[in-house]
Amino acid sequence: MSTLNRFCANFRIVLDRTSCWEWQATIADTGYGQFKYKAVRHGAHRCVFFIVYAITLGRHDYVCHKCDNRRCVRPSHLKIADAKWNAQDRQLKGRGNVRQGENVAQAKLRSNDIPQILSQHSEGLPIRQIAEHFNVHQETIKQILKRKSWLSISQNHQQNHTTGAP
Ligand SMILES: [Zn+2]
Repeated sequence: MSTLNRFCANFRIVLDRTSCWEWQATIADTGYGQFKYKAVRHGAHRCVFFIVYAITLGRHDYVCHKCDNRRCVRPSHLKIADAKWNAQDRQLKGRGNVRQGENVAQAKLRSNDIPQILSQHSEGLPIRQIAEHFNVHQETIKQILKRKSWLSISQNHQQNHTTGAP
């Protein structure tokens, strides 16, 4: 079976007004669908671009959901954006605990941000960009990656972790 056929066998078109194409296979802790390609698990929403459209995503390209449904892989519901746009979008939609300016140092991460941080790191995003995305200091991200903070959450996460190389 071709990669494209294999990919397309994994979602179902939702028959409601959203008409999302919802991923039915593995879902990561982060809520995103997972697709294994060349022995590495990727976000299914990212795979749409390189498997279906042969568009190569850069490390700095985020794939955002216009429909806010993380399981969705419908191309028209997805948008390629940079970290800045993504952070602004989260802020506009009232999510993400985004703070500005001098308050950045005190910005708080929520426990459910941690799996996403680890996942972005495993996808190869630079620490600077992850920090911008969550609007915290790079040092905070480094601490998390070194398991110095959020230790119990990180450990928990590793047990359930489905992203990254097998
Ligand atoms: Zn959708």
